[in-house]
Amino acid sequence: MASLSLKNICKKYPNGFEAVKDFNLEIADKEFIIFVGPSGCGKTTIINLLMRFYDPDEGEFLINDISTKDITKKSLREHVGMVLQETWIFSGTVFENIAYAKPNATLDEVKEAARKAQANKFIERLPQGYDTKISDSSGLSVGEKQLICVARVMLLEPEIVILDEATSNIDIRTEKLLNESFRQLFEGRTSLVVAHRLSTIISSDLIVCLKDGAIMEAGNHQELLDKKGFYYDLFNAQFK
Ligand code: ADP
Repeated sequence: MASLSLKNICKKYPNGFEAVKDFNLEIADKEFIIFVGPSGCGKTTIINLLMRFYDPDEGEFLINDISTKDITKKSLREHVGMVLQETWIFSGTVFENIAYAKPNATLDEVKEAARKAQANKFIERLPQGYDTKISDSSGLSVGEKQLICVARVMLLEPEIVILDEATSNIDIRTEKLLNESFRQLFEGRTSLVVAHRLSTIISSDLIVCLKDGAIMEAGNHQELLDKKGFYYDLFNAQFK
């Protein structure tokens, strides 16, 4: 089990730009929270801070009331699994790509993770299946790369997952697979998602709307629509 707290997070980039302003959020164990907001509102910065790609100027992240400053980055990344829009596929086999963070994984474990991630069918259609050599530029679609990244996280079974949904070039068939893949990923886990798709947004517990590095509004889909405020305008601009 894992709760996640964001406490008074502030981040200024070296050029002085304040990307995150005194940001506070409590995410309970197994809660499913999404971030929405216009491009540049600070969603990626918050995720990068949480994963400790860099540290906040002020504030801290707590997992089960323990500051992430007090645990190693390795331990952090075992507890928090991440699937980003900019997927990272290295030159190696499909098996190696999925087993990346668990090098002693067996083929059966990798296949099981791929099955949970809905990646098994397309992998089995590749010329050498799990032994097929792939890379970032080997012709896999954006959606297929995200499915491999979900399988990677499934294998690690972290308590918390962070997802930034891919926005571009997802065909309808892959989108269906991804929706089911993400559903399995969130199942029983504390989840923080940068959502770009309506189906993800509607199924969340709490929608947090960001603007200029701060929270503008929070609530569920219907509550926020009824308010006819920031979310209402954002939703109408993006999905209607
Ligand atoms: P989002 O993910 O919501 O699109 P980001 O977190 O990527 O937003 O960016 C938030 C703001 O911080 C934007 O205005 C962006 O231009 C700015 N920003 C991002 N990275 C840097 C950087 N390395 N240096 C200066 N400003 C940055």
